[in-house]
Amino acid sequence: MTEPNDLSAFWMPFTDNRFFKEHPRMFVAAKGMHYTAAAGHQVLDGTGGLWCVNAGHGREAIVEAIRHTAGQLDFAPTFQLGHPLAFEAASRLSLLMPEGLDRIFFTNSGSESVDSALKIALAYQKARGQGTRTRLIGRERGYHGTGFGGISVGGIVGNRRQFGTLLTGVDHLRHTHDPARNAWSRGQPLHGAELADDLERLVALHGAETIAAVIVEPVAGSTGVLIPPVGYLERLRAICDRHDILLIFDEVITGFGRIGCATGAERLGVTPDIITLAKGLTNAAVPMGAVAVRREVHDTILQSAAPGIELFHGYTYSGHPLAAAAAIATLGIYQSEGLFARAIELEEYWADAIHSLRGARHVIDCRNIGLIGGIELEPRPGAPTKRAMEVFHRAFDAGLLIRVTGDIIALSPPLIIEKPQIDEIVAKIAAILPTVD
Ligand code: PMP
Repeated sequence: MTEPNDLSAFWMPFTDNRFFKEHPRMFVAAKGMHYTAAAGHQVLDGTGGLWCVNAGHGREAIVEAIRHTAGQLDFAPTFQLGHPLAFEAASRLSLLMPEGLDRIFFTNSGSESVDSALKIALAYQKARGQGTRTRLIGRERGYHGTGFGGISVGGIVGNRRQFGTLLTGVDHLRHTHDPARNAWSRGQPLHGAELADDLERLVALHGAETIAAVIVEPVAGSTGVLIPPVGYLERLRAICDRHDILLIFDEVITGFGRIGCATGAERLGVTPDIITLAKGLTNAAVPMGAVAVRREVHDTILQSAAPGIELFHGYTYSGHPLAAAAAIATLGIYQSEGLFARAIELEEYWADAIHSLRGARHVIDCRNIGLIGGIELEPRPGAPTKRAMEVFHRAFDAGLLIRVTGDIIALSPPLIIEKPQIDEIVAKIAAILPTVD
């Protein structure tokens, strides 16, 4: 038996459970740019929760939409039935997507969006008579959530090695991180477009007729802010076109203004065939994800199907009323406050702030795009605890939430951030770095 306030029952995700339960750090409230920690102090949110609270915490319009909908229509199935909010949310979302990607499949998370996108790609190839195209291509250091599809195309060994053989027929491009040529980049690094040619090599190795789709994050977030080199995504798009391979952008992080436009595709000027979304879609107030699909992909699947269900895929909570209501309210805030553009307006100031850490103790690289920043620390040889993890704990206690991955600090504050708060983030990190051995 455990007591209600015992910490042992909750098996926490992606957590050092043994450490946490000895040293619990918790939040009890959130508003605007700040959390309130259980210990009572305010914590400036330098990571938008987990890259997801793009409009800041506790937004009244979202809270009210959820409250109202919960009283009105707590749940309605979307299998063979529907409710207006799901259709409205899909229509509104489709207007933000690049030209042509206007068919929306709803999920409950980024992981589900990724696995849905991979399945849609496979179903499409089959529907158009290219059923030999079953191979999926991911990229080293890609993070695509934790479903079996996502960890198979993903490129994080730690997320793969506990779980057996995963999906078969998957291959990977090399990642684009090249500190020797691209350290201290502001925006897109200059070198590395030719890494996209890895896809030509995989086509030569496996045959284009075996490849269904390639999935990449426009900017890889979870593995430490890896920004695509100038020309890389264009080249990948051209190779996909040449060999009739679908291109999927995983925009779970880059969607909804994170790098200055509704999508990374728009900001970076390259249009994929499928986009996966989650996080900022509801400002994280209710779980929801989505897959935006090129209309031709959608139509091909529908038209090739016998009368009846066209895609044997979905979730009980696809288009859940509370999530749909939250999404509609969130998209309204993004529009009325011009929040996507804010990441561009603040980009220069943000870049100067991030790069002011060049020269600080342990810092070996800084990089940025939109309102994302990466600060890479020199790994501590042989020590069990990463330097960045120590910075994370000290920052929390000093009133700043950051995200760390390996020895990289990743920053992605809500888009409502003001310049003094940018200064505060950087000042706190600058003060902590010298205290870490
Ligand atoms: N894809 C990307 C690019 C992500 O960054 C994440 C989460 N950080 C996911 C997928 C998975 O999302 P979720 O945790 O909501 O399943």
